[in-house]
Amino acid sequence: MNLNNFIKNHNKPFVIAGPCSAESEIQMLETAERIKKSGADVSVFRAGIWKPRTKPNGFEGVGEIGLKWLKKVKEEFGFKMAIEVANTHHVSAALKADVDVFWIGARSTANPFTVQEIAVALRGTDKPIFVKNPINPDLALWIGAVERLLGQNINNLGAIHRGFSSYQKTKYRNHPNWQIALDFKNHFPNIPLIADPSHICGNRTDLATVAQEAMNLGYEGIMLETHFNPDEAWSDASQQISPEVLAKILSGLKTRTSEISGYENDIRKHRTLISDIDFQVIELLSQRMKISRKIGALKKENHITIFQPDRWKEITEYTSQKAFECEMSQEFIERIFKMIHEQSIDIQNNV
Ligand code: PEP
Ligand code: MN
Repeated sequence: MNLNNFIKNHNKPFVIAGPCSAESEIQMLETAERIKKSGADVSVFRAGIWKPRTKPNGFEGVGEIGLKWLKKVKEEFGFKMAIEVANTHHVSAALKADVDVFWIGARSTANPFTVQEIAVALRGTDKPIFVKNPINPDLALWIGAVERLLGQNINNLGAIHRGFSSYQKTKYRNHPNWQIALDFKNHFPNIPLIADPSHICGNRTDLATVAQEAMNLGYEGIMLETHFNPDEAWSDASQQISPEVLAKILSGLKTRTSEISGYENDIRKHRTLISDIDFQVIELLSQRMKISRKIGALKKENHITIFQPDRWKEITEYTSQKAFECEMSQEFIERIFKMIHEQSIDIQNNV
């Protein structure tokens, strides 16, 4: 399966779907059967059989037996099969089982030693290898991982954008930071880029929006975690969807091929980036206000006035300086911060 040719000859988007983790033969077969029946245009069936978990003692995957179940799914329903490989043992077991598609997970991409080992173990393979972005927002690490694979004569490559982890709680499980993925695409224009809305969202409600945003930005495909009984999934239950919901999301997507004009598409692209920044601005403001509330409580306890002119002067100075550095109108930034400061004083008054 040459990824570029396959994607070129296939209706957009290219779709990888299947459970976060393989759990049992029945779960795999029933999920696959229902995907088939739902009419969703899925090319590749995914299932994690070794699962990277943040903390020990969770479900860490069924291991090699899952490869047998994947093979059955392939034989009965004709999907290509995809798994994550994270070390040389995984690679040799997966090559032996003739798995069609591999992906390198976000935690592995962040570790050059791991990527190098996997690349050497896969040396010269013509199977499609997808590289997920690293968990941290570091474009160079993502590019570096691809270069390590290219360096081992592995050329049938794809990339998966699964969002970036951050300490702040936001509406996303992993913030998309779309610009990083677009920069990746600019660097490797010939490597198909697909989005993984499941790991970006961490919930079901935003999947369709994020999938559409990826289409707006010209992504070639998407990966969606799909399970025959999502609520009971052994991993990532909150973000998995049923095959029928998958079909519905896919049929609602507007792809670029159905577009009328290039300029409209460019506008949609820029709007997606702007909305993303707007969300970040609001989330940061919300964090700022939460801190204001804490300061308000301290002022109250210690009988200090809420408005502190020295502090306001300090804020005006550093925001004005920052505005200058960012080539923004200082007057505009001052107006915005006046409003923010007023809101913050209101909040403190209400403590
Ligand atoms: C996965 O796709 O199952 C997975 C573990 O994803 P990520 O590496 O993006 O966390
Ligand atoms: Mn998952």
